[in-house]
Amino acid sequence: MFSLFCLLTDRTPKCSFLGTILPNITSQPGSASYVGQEANYWSNQQAETLPACRVQPQSALDVSASLLITKFFRCPFAVKSGGHAAFAGASNIQSGLTIDLANLNIVQVSEDRTLTQVGAGNRWGEVYSQLDPLQLSVIGGRVASIGVGGLTLGGGISFFSGRHGWACDGVRNYQVVLADANIVDVNEQSFPDLYFALRGGGNNFGIVTRFDLETFPQGDMWGGMRIYPITANASLLTELYNFAKNAPSDPDAALIVAFAYYEGEYLASTDIEYAKPIVNPPIFNELMAIGSLTSTMRITNLTDLVEELNVANPSGLREFYTTATFRNDPNLQSKILEIFMSEVTGIKDAEGILPALIFQPITKDIISYFSKNGGNALGIAESDGPLILMNIAIMWSSSVDDDRITAAANRAVDQSVALAKFMNLDYKYIYQNYASQGQDVFAGYGAVNQQRLIGISKKYDPEQVFQRLQPGYFKLSN
Ligand SMILES: Cc1cc2nc3c(=O)[nH]c(=O)nc-3n(C[C@H](O)[C@H](O)[C@H](O)COP(=O)(O)OP(=O)(O)OC[C@H]3O[C@@H](n4cnc5c(N)ncnc54)[C@H](O)[C@@H]3O)c2cc1C
Repeated sequence: MFSLFCLLTDRTPKCSFLGTILPNITSQPGSASYVGQEANYWSNQQAETLPACRVQPQSALDVSASLLITKFFRCPFAVKSGGHAAFAGASNIQSGLTIDLANLNIVQVSEDRTLTQVGAGNRWGEVYSQLDPLQLSVIGGRVASIGVGGLTLGGGISFFSGRHGWACDGVRNYQVVLADANIVDVNEQSFPDLYFALRGGGNNFGIVTRFDLETFPQGDMWGGMRIYPITANASLLTELYNFAKNAPSDPDAALIVAFAYYEGEYLASTDIEYAKPIVNPPIFNELMAIGSLTSTMRITNLTDLVEELNVANPSGLREFYTTATFRNDPNLQSKILEIFMSEVTGIKDAEGILPALIFQPITKDIISYFSKNGGNALGIAESDGPLILMNIAIMWSSSVDDDRITAAANRAVDQSVALAKFMNLDYKYIYQNYASQGQDVFAGYGAVNQQRLIGISKKYDPEQVFQRLQPGYFKLSN
């Protein structure tokens, strides 16, 4: 009977068998649990993607069994952690099997308080709310509902990156279900090549069921959001430039500068964070002197800060993310803002639209951690820094506007990159966690790292299960 399923061309029948094999963890279309899980994606494009069935494994063994069965039936699959990837098919799959890791949610601190085992289905808000009372923390996301899985496998910018690098640099050990369904521990000693690959390699190498994260003492901190009139743009970009350059002098500091069109007007904003409970640390003197319309700067804990940013990023809308990386130059960033505004002009009538242009520094102190424990796969050298990461993030309400909004955002990136090339300020890196579907993320890691990742994929996944049977997100094989 099973082989008959494999011969069927329509995916649905061969994927919905899972309910009979793993009934306790499988949800079929129409069931309350299926509907509830589908509502747990950030973007509507992902929530509207309808798998033949969904599984919610309770253990690494369940993940292994699900992978074995899906391979046997050659049923295409997707893996979901926090479901925050924006585009359809990234962590959900039409008529295939979606493996939803939400129930892999342990947060277990080691006795010596230097390591936290974090189940791959956790969201960062849940992790921090358990670590804050212990006065401990890990390197993770800055918005409560982002998943541990996707953020960490793509890189992972944290408020603590100046002192510890990106989230991938803080993983001491990955528990992974490999393509042959074996469950292995991957770390610098056991599988150093795979350990390298998982630090930036996305969903190409296995299904990570647990991340063992370096853990450090962390008490209250200072931070919050400030909103400015758009006329502050030049001063803010000058301070972004200065911060990117000077940040190594104070690795406790973190900064995001953003520009957005909201209800008929442009506004600017900053997220300023400092990892100690110190109000107005000197590194932010000039920035704090720029007059703001509103400010939530306060001493608080990490859980509170990531909850605040969660409110600014609601789910249930249509979403588009795209990105590019540039050299640190306020003149370039100012011209990119002009390009962004010009493209927004053509789409600002779209229902519920909120387009944002976000700049974040990748400072030299952050990059210095990219070579830790044998190095990550991102391909950024300390001598390349400081860099400025650009993210265009647009939310809107109606699918009628999808095409023109994504076209405008793509044009804004293309024009910005062309201008940067002309000014000799371009840089190859494309951040996986902010990239749009068509962007060539792994080419941006450099040819050497890209080839190395392809070789590691072939070694651990000779049948190329994670390339062929899991088509969504950024593939090495593309
Ligand atoms: C509101 C918002 C705020 C953000 N803030 C930050 C931030 O502070 N820092 C930052 O760096 N990025 C940030 N991002 C980007 C974010 O890191 C990416 O969207 C990331 O992919 C989200 O991870 P997720 O687990 O929620 O997504 P998912 O959609 O669940 O997963 C993304 C991809 O990773 C794969 N994947 C997930 N878990 C596993 C696993 N355990 N094993 C194998 N593959 C897996 C999935 O298959 C999918 O292809 C933000 C995004 C949003 C929308």
